[in-house]
Amino acid sequence: SERGPADTNPTGVELDDVTVRFGDVAALRDVSLAVEDGEFFTLVGPSGCGKTTTLRAIAGFETPATGAVRIGGREMGGVPPEDRNVGVVFQNYALFPHLSVRENVGYGLRFHDPPGEVTTRERVDDLLSLVDMADMAERDPDALSGGQQQRVALARALAPGPDVLLLDEPLSALDARLRERLRVTLKAIQRDLEITTIYVTHDQAEALAVSDRVAVVNDGRIEQVDTPERVYREPASRFVAEFVGDNNRFEAEITGTDPPRASVDGLDVTLPNASDVSAGRPVTLCVRPEAIRVTDGDVGSSGAAATTMTATVESREFLGDAYRLHCRWNDRSVLVKTGGRRPPEGTVRLAFDTDDVQVLTDE
Ligand code: ATP
Repeated sequence: SERGPADTNPTGVELDDVTVRFGDVAALRDVSLAVEDGEFFTLVGPSGCGKTTTLRAIAGFETPATGAVRIGGREMGGVPPEDRNVGVVFQNYALFPHLSVRENVGYGLRFHDPPGEVTTRERVDDLLSLVDMADMAERDPDALSGGQQQRVALARALAPGPDVLLLDEPLSALDARLRERLRVTLKAIQRDLEITTIYVTHDQAEALAVSDRVAVVNDGRIEQVDTPERVYREPASRFVAEFVGDNNRFEAEITGTDPPRASVDGLDVTLPNASDVSAGRPVTLCVRPEAIRVTDGDVGSSGAAATTMTATVESREFLGDAYRLHCRWNDRSVLVKTGGRRPPEGTVRLAFDTDDVQVLTDE
């Protein structure tokens, strides 16, 4: 087969207009993606949106109705899973209970010789060291914690030296604290091996934390592919703005175009980030809770143009490093995240810089 792109992107993964159907249901619709060599790429989206199906199509467990999957530039149509050189870890990828930790990792080499000039035993020892499980090599899986089991599953998937690592919610069965620790470990191992990795999670915070780039998936389609920063700061759609992080959304109407400005309940907001808007058009303005300040009258903190409103604090949550305030402004609820030792109460002035307003236009 053709090896063109493989020279520059030897382990990259591409999907070209991939559609996967289950009977009448299209679980994926015309999905196109290009994952770079050595990239940590995450598919994030709500339950049932098609993340697992995407991973299974790459691994070769699902056959696309239309479109193509390429790994290292090589077309994968008709190539069985065991010949795709991918390693897979699932959420509850049960280890074999009757095999020791060492034997479980060795099982990862059943189809392949170990990469390089090493014996199977040396390769397994290397992998157990990599995931910090060397001292538990002889244990049975049922004598391990969930986190330890997932580390063994990771070692097993990496044993043959796959080109691509596919991870389907590998941490979701673990408690929050352990999940955060293991994702740091996972990321460090990925960096170290420079292995192309496609990670599936429904947890948007986790996706932002670990990824080089994120694809936000909704109902079998890709809504946005971008760096975590851009997905958060410049959501491409209403869905992304709502799914990723907390957001305030204000329905508004464009009242002028030079410069662009909008009116929300009579409040005039200039829109430095708006392009391509026409007067009278309905838009949604998004402002993150942490971009809204509680002020005591004096507004322009940074010298940037600010918008202010008088609101009432209705309730609050203590987050440890900040307070989340549920405020009311006219008939609207406004979420504010604010630091400081004493939470504001009662009637407050809220201010945000117009630079922090993201404008979504209706399609
Ligand atoms: P979750 O986060 O809940 O695992 P997901 O985003 O991974 O969800 P998929 O498992 O890819 O979603 O499922 C996408 C859609 O395809 C869902 O509507 C699901 O019900 C459907 N689906 C998945 N597998 C099958 C199957 N084998 N037969 C029929 N429908 C399926």
